[in-house]
Amino acid sequence: MAATQAAQELVGLFPPGTTLDATGALVLGGVPVAELAETYGTPALIVDEASIRARARRYADGLAARWPNSRATFASKAFPCTAVYRLLAEEGLGIDVAGGGELTLALAAGADPAGLVVHGNAKTEEELRLAVEAGAGTIVVDNFDDIDKLEKILGQTSTAQKSTAQTSTAQTSTARTGGEQGVLVRVTPDIRPDTHEAVSTGQNGSKFGLLLPQAREAVARLRGSDRLRLDGVHVHVGSQILDLEPFAQAVEAVAELGEFAVYDLGGGLGSRYTYTDHPPTVEAYLDAMTDVAKRLLPADARILIEPGRSMVAESGVSLYRVVSVKRGGGHTFVAVDGGMGDNLEVSLYQQRFEAAVATRPTGAGELCRLVGRHCESGDTLSASVRLADPRVGDLIAVPVTGAYTYALSNNYNGARRPPVVFVRDGAHRAVVRRETYADLMRRDLP
Ligand SMILES: *Cc1c(COP(=O)(O)O)cnc(C)c1O
Repeated sequence: MAATQAAQELVGLFPPGTTLDATGALVLGGVPVAELAETYGTPALIVDEASIRARARRYADGLAARWPNSRATFASKAFPCTAVYRLLAEEGLGIDVAGGGELTLALAAGADPAGLVVHGNAKTEEELRLAVEAGAGTIVVDNFDDIDKLEKILGQTSTAQKSTAQTSTAQTSTARTGGEQGVLVRVTPDIRPDTHEAVSTGQNGSKFGLLLPQAREAVARLRGSDRLRLDGVHVHVGSQILDLEPFAQAVEAVAELGEFAVYDLGGGLGSRYTYTDHPPTVEAYLDAMTDVAKRLLPADARILIEPGRSMVAESGVSLYRVVSVKRGGGHTFVAVDGGMGDNLEVSLYQQRFEAAVATRPTGAGELCRLVGRHCESGDTLSASVRLADPRVGDLIAVPVTGAYTYALSNNYNGARRPPVVFVRDGAHRAVVRRETYADLMRRDLP
């Protein structure tokens, strides 16, 4: 009974559809962990494709049911590899990009340029030009320099360069405000969600967006622009937010700026990383925002949301191999073949992760410190986690690693960045290969 309960609790942190086989080992997307480790080596980032698709539909359908004139957009910085862009574009989501790199990845994956939302607090003229020329539907103005640069770029871009589709959208909207490039103004509502400082973005003092008085000024300036079409306003207050209040407050703040055609309400919903995390459901989150929207926003406005972390986090599982088990001074250090090279969330935001021995995840546990292979004491995957009799060679599974791990992976200590492997219905395929030692020298010049 206790074992069953433990098994259910443990499996609950892994992607939906995760099971245990007859030996008690984890099975991800229908594929036993041992087969994945044998095929692709470790460390490896395993992604359950069905669970990302299900999450995308839950967001898109849930939002449409509450506010039909809407679109869910994937904040791609949470997992910027082309296979993930392709998957979410296939599901009909818009794509958020920050900068020329993510823009290039989105286009390479076949995302519809009209559904791209371009962010950044320091967009260079080159990046803005790339976005305009690609036909990016929406550029989010973060500062007055963005407006200057865009007006300059659009002054030089003749409509002849635009595709027919672009021109026709431009004509419809010209009736509204006169410009051809759709823009939103990013507003800093001065809200402090209860999250880590590094991922809080809505407060006075944030480097992102414009406080209400400056946002009003930007709105006025854009309304007078004959090159830019002010579609509306944008707000994003932070990441890994575990209560609903800041989301409701953000909608109240943008409502104060007046009536617009588009309100982009950002992302930020927290994910469940540990047994003790209880983030709101997608539905509760959507209710919180659309309830305020129904009271305060124009009924015919379009609403965009931009989930990143909560779209992909729970679909990912990192697999490692135990390299050493060291006991002493009251501690058990279980060291694996990865760490801060493939998961910086712990060092950057002190994110807590659970972990399990992948082949006997529910066995009685010893309290361990799960550490990485890098030359820093902060290179810890989990400061305190129960592992069942950990031994050298064991496979360790760390759940909820789909968000911001691939994006922040690096070559510290010459680590080769791990492969990304999609699993689905008992089949598996690598969508990103492991780096080689030769890759580490790829950019070096003689
Ligand atoms: C990072 C970011 C998001 C996504 O945030 P999550 O916490 O990953 O959901 C959405 N919008 C903007 C502008 C962002 O910078």
